[in-house]
Amino acid sequence: MSDDERLEAFRADLRGWIELNCPEEMRDGAAGETAICWGGKQWEFDSDAQRVWLERCASKGYTVPTWPKEYGGAGLTRSEEKVFVEEMARANARVPLQSFGIWMLGPALLHFGTHEQKLKYLPPIARGEVRWCQGYSEPGAGSDLANVQTHGADGGDHWVVNGQKIWTSYADKADWIFALVRTDRDAPKHKGISFLLIDMESAGIETRPIRMISGASPFCETFFTDVAVSKDQIVGTENRGWDVAKYLLTHEREMISGGAGGLAGDGRSIGAIISDTMGGLDDTVLRADALRCEIDALAVGLTLERYKDQAEAGQGAGDASAMLKYQGTELNKRRHELMMQAAGSEALTWEDPRGNRAADWLRTKANSIEGGTSEVMLSIVSRRVLGLPG
Ligand SMILES: Cc1cc2nc3c(=O)[nH]c(=O)nc-3n(C[C@H](O)[C@H](O)[C@H](O)COP(=O)(O)OP(=O)(O)OC[C@H]3O[C@@H](n4cnc5c(N)ncnc54)[C@H](O)[C@@H]3O)c2cc1C
Repeated sequence: MSDDERLEAFRADLRGWIELNCPEEMRDGAAGETAICWGGKQWEFDSDAQRVWLERCASKGYTVPTWPKEYGGAGLTRSEEKVFVEEMARANARVPLQSFGIWMLGPALLHFGTHEQKLKYLPPIARGEVRWCQGYSEPGAGSDLANVQTHGADGGDHWVVNGQKIWTSYADKADWIFALVRTDRDAPKHKGISFLLIDMESAGIETRPIRMISGASPFCETFFTDVAVSKDQIVGTENRGWDVAKYLLTHEREMISGGAGGLAGDGRSIGAIISDTMGGLDDTVLRADALRCEIDALAVGLTLERYKDQAEAGQGAGDASAMLKYQGTELNKRRHELMMQAAGSEALTWEDPRGNRAADWLRTKANSIEGGTSEVMLSIVSRRVLGLPG
């Protein structure tokens, strides 16, 4: 059988499997962020269909299709992954599970973790049993991330962690946190950081949700007071956590750019969304803007695909992820501004059965801050991708 025939056989199998296993209620691929399961001990399923869809996908490794089978994935090749994405979109199937474990920690563990760590931490992520949060930012370490001050003192077989993280998304709903902790205060700032995995139920951890003007609290301040962290919960080498941190960030930025189906949204063109939800694209200026936006989206999407093809399995796009993140997030802001413009004053209603457009639009403003700001992304592109003087 040729490679093409094998791929077509895989497509036919997969199509049949989706037809048989995807519940009708889960065939709403356009469902927003809140409709998708984040997993973890605290997760409450919206419906039986959501639970069943997760269980069925997890049993086939389809929550993390490219991870090796022994760690909970389906072991798909890059070509099979493309078919997988196409077939799920064709069925308009909802993403069964999303999480920081899938997008960020998983790739970092696959690259830097020991076999034992992969066996221990990856399958529960793939099954949606454990939810992770990200402990990177601190009050004095956002864009200057290597300035983290949360400290791990050597306690023999463990570290004693003290300090504070901020903007920890969903820390109050997470079971574990991956955190950057300074374990050598005397080393240069990039050389004294370790990447630690910490159980959120450990004594001495406190999360305080930050309440926004909308009333929602999507992120927290996270405090560590004499938290004992066993030394086998380090990923990579002691004091070399910056390498893990940077690698993880390339995956985070790729994901925010749309690489994991995030900002790319439901895959429909902006023109189709405007026509479907707002009744047409009669305005010629609006139509031209929508077209420009769509052409740019196509260019970002194709560039992302090119980087994915070039990258070795399991590797991210490297520093080019900064370019993808910048373009993807700026584009997403434009898409939402266009949708607001198309809907006019109607878009300002906070409660709308067709979705909360104003809230979605406001949320895009954070896209160019989270995972590294647009200004910092442009600096990375200029220095590390284009090689311009710093
Ligand atoms: C929705 C959301 C969710 C988040 N979730 C998490 C999370 O789960 N975990 C986590 O650890 N963090 C999280 N963050 C934090 C995020 O990573 C930081 O906000 C981001 O890295 C920027 O850091 P800062 O807020 O400290 O801003 P600062 O670094 O203080 O920057 C302030 C401004 O100065 C500019 N600036 C700073 N340095 C430079 C420079 N060298 N050159 C040019 N301009 C510069 C920035 O671009 C920005 O406009 C989240 C943020 C948001 C918005």
